[in-house]
Amino acid sequence: MINLFGIAEDSIVDGPGIRTVFFAQGCPHHCKGCHNPESWPFEGGTAMDEEQLVEIARSNPLSRKVTFSGGEPFAQAEGFAKLAELLRPYHYEIASFTGYTFEYLMEHGTEAQKKLLSSIDVLIDGPFIMEEKSLELYFKGSRNQRVLDVKKSLAEGKAVEITAGGWVGEY
Ligand code: SF4
Repeated sequence: MINLFGIAEDSIVDGPGIRTVFFAQGCPHHCKGCHNPESWPFEGGTAMDEEQLVEIARSNPLSRKVTFSGGEPFAQAEGFAKLAELLRPYHYEIASFTGYTFEYLMEHGTEAQKKLLSSIDVLIDGPFIMEEKSLELYFKGSRNQRVLDVKKSLAEGKAVEITAGGWVGEY
């Protein structure tokens, strides 16, 4: 079960291509200047089954890409990891935003958070920092955030960024 703040079925701003976006309800980071402070409380939201969310993603024939956003998906890591595993047989590209850094998740993450990490393809990591804000960044809000190739990062044991133009996927 995942508690959601909302769903966007045809997003073109949460990663390359047309994407289904699942927004988690609840975020512990409380970044100054957050675009979505209504998603901070862990109370409220809509609880949905992972199987139901797979059906919603699959109902869009134009998209084989999914983004987990927030809120903080890694605060509901068990549910989002299950969702990622259920999407895997359908060959979705899965990206997730997080206010944690890759290094934090590797060193201090729970088992469920590490499982979620190993179940996704792309991680956009780090908190939003107002002073680092830029409108010229693709799919990121502030310069400190990184777009990481998760499989390579896990294989090399360090954050491996996808360089400019690298995260384009197929359309
Ligand atoms: S991590 Fe994202 S949702 Fe959470 S406070 Fe920061 S910008 Fe907002």
